[in-house]
Amino acid sequence: MCGIVGAVSTKNIVPVLLEGLRRLEYRGYDSCGVAVHQGGQLKRARSTSRVAELEANVKAEEVQGGTGIAHTRWATHGAPAVHNAHPHFSHGPGADAQERPGRVALVHNGIIENYEELRAGLQARGYVFSSQTDTEVIAHLVDSLYDGDLFDAVKAAVKQLHGAYAIAVFHKDEPHRVVGARAGSPLILG
Ligand code: GLU
Repeated sequence: MCGIVGAVSTKNIVPVLLEGLRRLEYRGYDSCGVAVHQGGQLKRARSTSRVAELEANVKAEEVQGGTGIAHTRWATHGAPAVHNAHPHFSHGPGADAQERPGRVALVHNGIIENYEELRAGLQARGYVFSSQTDTEVIAHLVDSLYDGDLFDAVKAAVKQLHGAYAIAVFHKDEPHRVVGARAGSPLILG
């Protein structure tokens, strides 16, 4: 059973996100990660070890920002490996997408039952996948529906999802906003 945390602040939010993950550790997990909005870009650190190691990576890589999301993963689709750990990014469509800055960062708790069909549709539109997770389809789906308002894009995306989920998402072009959505899985707003 995994956990997600997201927050927006005027200060560096990473210590709060890591403390959130520490409080969720008791639920069990196989990998963890954090992403922030930093200097106009998306930046992340991920680990297949404990939150303590993620914290060391975050310090070494100087991951800090006022807007961010974090995740402890219990793998259901794709092995417990760094490339499958959340947060997942969408860089937009195109073979060269991975070389471009990330546009959407997303964490997810749950299972998307129709992810194969969604993935095939997104691949046909040029989206390149870098994980085996069901989660990555949501990041690309939100990106494909984005037209300047993240809340609108997430509302449109969740209409296409079948399954149980809680998600937290942010976008490169909206530095002070995290959008959450849930169906079947719990999500608390504070
Ligand atoms: N189904 C997603 C995955 O395998 C999320 C699992 C979870 O809830 O941690 O990455």
